[in-house]
Amino acid sequence: MIIRTTVPVIISSLLGFHLLGAEFPTIQGKAYTFEKISEGIYYATGGFGSNNVVIVNDRDVVLVDDGTTPAAARAFLEDIKLITDKPVSAVINTHFHYDHSDGNSVFPPEVQIIGQEYVRTAILTFDILNREPFKTSQGTRVPAQIASLREQIAAAPDETRKAALAKQLSSTETLAEQLKDIKPTPPNVTYKSRMVLYRGGREIQLLFLGRGHTGGDTFVYLPRERIVCTGDMDEGTNVAYMGDAFFDEWIVSLEALKKLDFELVLPGHGRPFHGKELITAFQSYLKDLMVQVAGLRAQGATPEEAAKRVDVTSHQKDFPNIKTAGADLRGVRRMYQWMDENGKRMDETGKQ
Ligand SMILES: [Zn+2]
Repeated sequence: MIIRTTVPVIISSLLGFHLLGAEFPTIQGKAYTFEKISEGIYYATGGFGSNNVVIVNDRDVVLVDDGTTPAAARAFLEDIKLITDKPVSAVINTHFHYDHSDGNSVFPPEVQIIGQEYVRTAILTFDILNREPFKTSQGTRVPAQIASLREQIAAAPDETRKAALAKQLSSTETLAEQLKDIKPTPPNVTYKSRMVLYRGGREIQLLFLGRGHTGGDTFVYLPRERIVCTGDMDEGTNVAYMGDAFFDEWIVSLEALKKLDFELVLPGHGRPFHGKELITAFQSYLKDLMVQVAGLRAQGATPEEAAKRVDVTSHQKDFPNIKTAGADLRGVRRMYQWMDENGKRMDETGKQ
């Protein structure tokens, strides 16, 4: 028993393979690919925005996250019909970021949209379409891409190239239209620290274990299946966006996560992974980034300089996307802000 469960994990981590290849049977929809993780549990990838989770219960379906646009959420719902004809009763938003919650508006009012209470506050008060991460990830990027494609078409040397660019332009314009359809829609059910949905034989725990990726992230924990959905609190071998982070608290919240009894993690981006090693690796990445940025800040570096000079390539083994020195400027800016806020708090309390 011990050998069967632990040897593959040890071997895979020795080889550096935390990822699961074609481990799960898949169902291909028009937009989404569903991997059957366990009885009634599907991991949905390939859409626009987050990777979502579909939990099919005795009588209903509970979703985790719904993607970047109403069009993406509609495509998701259409593809779910390949798996089940049971109705969606609830959608859990792991956090407020656009790529997890901007599909919310497609659900009728009888569907519960559930989030930690910070998610509702954020969507109602943060002007989310005019701030990061939406702003540069979608808001300004897409119009800039359209303008650039138009210039390229005008300058294209031949008709074949023009036609190829025109095709790209058309799909980018469709995307721009779909982004205009976004109506920020907050959860209509909120909770503070813990909420449990009982659906037939299924127990679905919603846990807020402290701030981290944002001020209100939910872990969706299925204790019987020993599965946890982490949203962007942990993205396996991806480094998460950090522009809204609470850095040292994030490390503590991940420590609380690791105390839960689970075997498989379904992250909001990237790939499912086994065990807790990658979570520890991400904690160590966060620590390293904090120490380095604090050092650069103490030397008088601007956030822009710090974002260029910080070097986390030593974490490449666990996070293969780290190719060179440097880190996302939005995350480093947020870290400076966080350190300023902390400094103020320390001054006020007179403590170190
Ligand atoms: Zn996020």
